[in-house]
Amino acid sequence: MMTPSKIAISIVPSPEHTLQGHPENVDRFEYFDKLMDEEKAYVIHKVDRPIALDQIIHKVHPSEYVQALTQAVQMGPGFLDYGDTYITQESMNAAFNAVEGTLSVLSAIHEGASEHGFALIRPPGHHATATQAMGFCLLNNIAIAARYAQDLGYSKVLIVDFDVHHGNGTQAIFQEDPKIVYFSTHQAGIFPGTGHVGESGQNEGEGSIINVPLPPMAGDKAIELICDEILIPIADRLMPDILLVSAGFDAHWNDPLANLQFTIGGYHYFASVLKTIAHRHCSGKVLFVLEGGYNPNTLLNGIRATFYALAEELLPEIAGDDARYAEPTIESLIANVKHIHSL
Ligand SMILES: [Zn+2]
Repeated sequence: MMTPSKIAISIVPSPEHTLQGHPENVDRFEYFDKLMDEEKAYVIHKVDRPIALDQIIHKVHPSEYVQALTQAVQMGPGFLDYGDTYITQESMNAAFNAVEGTLSVLSAIHEGASEHGFALIRPPGHHATATQAMGFCLLNNIAIAARYAQDLGYSKVLIVDFDVHHGNGTQAIFQEDPKIVYFSTHQAGIFPGTGHVGESGQNEGEGSIINVPLPPMAGDKAIELICDEILIPIADRLMPDILLVSAGFDAHWNDPLANLQFTIGGYHYFASVLKTIAHRHCSGKVLFVLEGGYNPNTLLNGIRATFYALAEELLPEIAGDDARYAEPTIESLIANVKHIHSL
């Protein structure tokens, strides 16, 4: 029997940054203890490494922004960004710890302690631009991880974002950078309103942003088509040195914030494809970083499905995890993305 695959993880629940009644609160992590109890198909190993954060954070967020955010937090509690991004007086700690948890796992992967890992952190990051907190996000964890990866010698980085919302912050940060390619599936027309097919990068970064905005009710069939027709060819063309994943689980059919119909089986499939890409191009190196996912039980199952995929294990069946409605066809969307990106 093969040794079970070792998965590096960090868990940063940030109980000091929470707001009752808000979807992005500490209750999302309520069931994560179960992940620690059931190491069968996989072995998770917790990492916690001290990392000098300031310089790395400033490669994405100017120090003026971090200072202004720190001041706003000190005057908290309150809201930034027209009301959906709350802060408490401890939110800066939480944001720094989330970055540290993310970079800890990346560092463990870099050093070979595990070839893959998952940073289970909050607050999430992909809506935060270089100079603006928004969409429950304060610092852009995945963008900071991409810059850190480059510091560690991974020159070409592929970021795949399957959160149901478009990662406008990550796109804005990297849209002129040909070395960091950002690929996103998300529901069209919902928050934050960006992520159109035609947003494909700017100047030297032209072509390095790939957006696949999905119609409501798209689900597992869409995932398969997108992986085969777009994501795998993009990865084969780029040949990234490392794969980073903005892993939100709010595209699941029972998530309260949106209307896509991914299932837990769909997430397992998607993660398996990502692992295959990582093996083909990145010596297996792939880092998942948590973004959204607002049904705590679904979030737990989605993360567990990712662990199974990383361990190359079949997912035990989950009763009742079926999309409720027929999926729309997305052939014309696929054709449009392929045309724009010459695939
Ligand atoms: Zn989301």
